Amino acid sequence: MPARRRIYLSSPHMGGDELEYVREAFEANWIAPLGPHVDAFEKECARSAGVEAGLALSSGTAAALLSARLVDLREGDVFFCSSLTFVASLAPIVQLGGTPVFIDSDPWSWNMSASALARAFDDADKSGVLPKAVILVNLYGAPCDMDKLLPLCRKYGVPVIEDAAESMGATYNGRQTGSFGKFGFYSFNGNKIITTSGGGMLLSDDEEAIDRARFWSAQARDSAPWYQHSELGYNFRMSNILAGIGRAQLKLLDDRVTRRRAIFERYRKALGSLPGITFMPEGSGCRSNRWLTVLTVDPGQAGTSNMKIIEALEEENVESRPVWKPMHLQPVFSGAKYYAHGPDESAELFKNGVCLPSGSNMSEEDQDLVTGAIRRLFGA
Ligand SMILES: *Cc1c(COP(=O)(O)O)cnc(C)c1O
Repeated sequence: MPARRRIYLSSPHMGGDELEYVREAFEANWIAPLGPHVDAFEKECARSAGVEAGLALSSGTAAALLSARLVDLREGDVFFCSSLTFVASLAPIVQLGGTPVFIDSDPWSWNMSASALARAFDDADKSGVLPKAVILVNLYGAPCDMDKLLPLCRKYGVPVIEDAAESMGATYNGRQTGSFGKFGFYSFNGNKIITTSGGGMLLSDDEEAIDRARFWSAQARDSAPWYQHSELGYNFRMSNILAGIGRAQLKLLDDRVTRRRAIFERYRKALGSLPGITFMPEGSGCRSNRWLTVLTVDPGQAGTSNMKIIEALEEENVESRPVWKPMHLQPVFSGAKYYAHGPDESAELFKNGVCLPSGSNMSEEDQDLVTGAIRRLFGA
């Protein structure tokens, strides 16, 4: 018997119009460099986020690096970052020479704990060395508790970089994530809520800063008839073809958020009453895009565990994953400073959490297969 088609955690979901945009690029021979789709995609993303300017890039990781350069983060500078995240939030900043201090999650948002951040700021202030930036991450599409976190950063005059790679389309008090920091960014990697097959978007109200990043992202060429460089840059721009895919995908963003939220609700209905299962919360004022449906399993109550769920799903040819392993537990960051919320929340979320397949192209049968396998494991 042939194996059942694999169900992935979050696979690309094309709408169909992407090909029209790509065809346009071919017909005008705007294959490279840059071109009208790139310009339009930047404007459309900025408008959708509610900010003044966007810069289309080859990845979200590139956007993280450029935002750190824009706040003038240099070798030896300290920055604060959510511990519970994907390494790309900070890897390029560490490679720039920055020293991370990790901040725990709180149990209400699973995002950066305001009380842990306050302690970190207090210590930094006493030592006389404030961080150069605070990296806030909207994990799995859920907005951070901005009303608590932003005033703290403002109090110390430290700029926020908002990693909205997973949270495009999610809102906090009606405002789009990606628009809360001095800089914000989206990712269009293949597994994100919309995709260009690979890419990212840097966002800001500071148009001059975005222009500076644009200059760096295209090899930092001075305006001269020959290739002249007063600074060093990168080759980070998005191609016109991929921007065309992105323009068609952006039109589908609302639909994709609606679908992912519906999947979350369906999972909650089917699994929410099982013993020891808790779904990722949605804070007040928050509308998550539910990029991934994430839950925790209390083994004491459940009689099973997150890893057993992952194994049971794998037997059905279904991909699922543990929650991000926190940065303060990563071998590469051993010895880094860490501010826990109280109990180590992010370590606990990692130990017990599981991400269920949540692609907006999943059928209801696919979802039922997932919940069926989990319910069987619970003997339900
Ligand atoms: C995907 C992701 C990134 C990186 O985006 P890429 O486009 O893959 O470089 C950064 N931060 C978080 C939280 C992500 O999930």
